Amino acid sequence: MQNLNAFKELISTPKKVVITTHFKPDADALGSSLGLARYLKKKGHTVDVITPSDYPKFIAWMDGNEDVINFENNKTRQKAIKLIAEADLIFCLDFSALSRINDMEAVVRNAPGVKVMIDHHLYPENFSQFSLHDTNASSTCELIYKLITELLGDKALMDIPTGECLYAGMMTDTGSFRHPSTTPAVHRMAAEIMEIGVNTNKIHRRIYDSTSFDRLKFLGYVLSEKLTVLPEFRVAYFVVTDEELKRFNSQTGDTEGIVNYGLQIENIVMSVIIVDRPEAIKMSFRSVEEFAVNEIASKYFSGGGHKNAAGGKTNGIGLQATLDKLLSILPEYKEALLSVPS
Ligand code: 5GP
Ligand code: MN
Repeated sequence: MQNLNAFKELISTPKKVVITTHFKPDADALGSSLGLARYLKKKGHTVDVITPSDYPKFIAWMDGNEDVINFENNKTRQKAIKLIAEADLIFCLDFSALSRINDMEAVVRNAPGVKVMIDHHLYPENFSQFSLHDTNASSTCELIYKLITELLGDKALMDIPTGECLYAGMMTDTGSFRHPSTTPAVHRMAAEIMEIGVNTNKIHRRIYDSTSFDRLKFLGYVLSEKLTVLPEFRVAYFVVTDEELKRFNSQTGDTEGIVNYGLQIENIVMSVIIVDRPEAIKMSFRSVEEFAVNEIASKYFSGGGHKNAAGGKTNGIGLQATLDKLLSILPEYKEALLSVPS
């Protein structure tokens, strides 16, 4: 953080704080938000966490979860708007472009409070007065841990509930400590969190072993019926319709992680899932090595993300046209796809 001393000065007296994160929060988004919220409350601030949408049940166990305000909920929307407008400080976590908070964008953009962006995504938009931004960080949770323990020197305030939130986000964003973002610092942070007394096995089970029977059947169906492999491009892709989501009683978060299965196939370099969602046709991209999927997501699918994990969408063109668009650009990337070492 460039102007760390000014930031320290700012948070040295009690403030009205709002913390927000991206649409459809994942474990890193929610974990970093609730971990920071708990810390700031201990420091005497008034803190509200407002999410632009709901989030999956398998992360809804984190400390502070009951108090999270969902901006999509009409009953609490006016309260959320008021809190954002009156906040002294607005923390924006795990996203760096305001378009990622959907309907909250204008409210946050126009709010007079000081904005603090903490994130690890590429190409940050310049909307905040303070930022802790590092694309080499594994997760926003890692950055929050660093902020609290190193930059603000408050390791003594790192307790079990905070550690649980931050461990969850770091664990999921590193794919359980297997992606290239898994640095020695990540393992050190995990070790320190274990030393506080956090039961990390319990966190793994809560997140990965709490699936519904419907979701498991959905996964089986998608793997057997909806996966196409194009060996000539080293690409695998899934297409999931709205009807299929309904048939398997799909809940928020149920398609998360499915795209990764495409990369388990020998020689596959890029895997894509295209899902027909009410708000848009949503796409997730995953890749290995130097093949950059965020480039494809931003150039063709109004999205972005990281080199090996990105997302995007199309609006109004339908599922088939979205797939056709993806297939039509593959020849442009063929050379790059084929040149990745096996
Ligand atoms: P996921 O596929 O898990 O939804 O997202 C993978 C990565 O791409 C995440 O880091 C996420 O932040 C980013 N991402 C997902 N969807 C979008 C999008 O619509 N726009 C941008 N800029 N990034 C996205
Ligand atoms: Mn993240």
